[in-house]
Amino acid sequence: MECVLLGSGGMMPMPYRSLTSLATRYQGHLYLFDAGEGAQVSLKKAKLGIKPLRVLAISHLHGDHCLGVPGLLMMRAQVPEPGHLTILGPPGIKRFVSQLHEILGFFLNFPIHFAEWDETAPELAYQDESVRILWAPLKHTTFCLGYRLEEHPRPGKFKPEAARALGVPSGPMWGSLQKGEQVTLEDGALISPDQVLGSPRPGRHVCYAVDTRPSKALYRLCKNADLAFLDGMFLPEHQADAEAKGHMTVDDAARVASRAGVRRAVLVHISPRYRDEDMEELTAAAAKRFQGAEMGRDLQSYPIGLREE
Ligand SMILES: [Zn+2]
Ligand SMILES: [Zn+2]
Repeated sequence: MECVLLGSGGMMPMPYRSLTSLATRYQGHLYLFDAGEGAQVSLKKAKLGIKPLRVLAISHLHGDHCLGVPGLLMMRAQVPEPGHLTILGPPGIKRFVSQLHEILGFFLNFPIHFAEWDETAPELAYQDESVRILWAPLKHTTFCLGYRLEEHPRPGKFKPEAARALGVPSGPMWGSLQKGEQVTLEDGALISPDQVLGSPRPGRHVCYAVDTRPSKALYRLCKNADLAFLDGMFLPEHQADAEAKGHMTVDDAARVASRAGVRRAVLVHISPRYRDEDMEELTAAAAKRFQGAEMGRDLQSYPIGLREE
């Protein structure tokens, strides 16, 4: 599992920083979080391809998070038979995309399935054979969603000595049991996977939460995540700005990450006022609260290793 940060900026795309957007790559599929202006350019730079895009999750209907959607759809329609796409987002996301499609009349060669959050929406926004995606409303100046992508738990470790003791010959039967399938021995005995596997191992979890103040929902969303991409728009000295605009300072974000038990936090949606030479100061302010916090960098890859317990 790998995350690639397509952009780390907030508000407007700058020559030196693209807008915040996160691609998570897993088992040949791409799950993309947010698409502000120029998202398709960032995706091209990252060389991740567009066909594998399975889910596009939009946090909220501010331009810096959704104006790149039509460009991405048009780019995807250039690929023969790209397959269906799921778009997750706040109330209004379907109307936003459908009306742009109607007015611009662009070509689409794939079906889009929309899932819009509403008050009755369950915590689970999406799931497939590889992952599930949870969503929760955050605390911004307009309705904004945070997301958590979870790899399904992996089967427990295979115990060869247990298999041998039960008389399972090594070979294809071991493979079947490791995949979670039950096998029948020559004498007719049924062996189930739980007889030879340890307890299931937790999957890897990634949180994406931008444009928000700290909140209970935010803590829950990033609880014990392996990797969390969090709003870290301002230096602590601009706390008032952060509060007025519904954002976090790097200090706020690092505190949330630390308290929520996040392993590694990447702070994004960086204000255009900061240039490369300011990153050191931002990083230091974040690391003061939480050693595992760092500032996001455009096009950086963040691999997530397997969890063993
Ligand atoms: Zn924003
Ligand atoms: Zn916003």
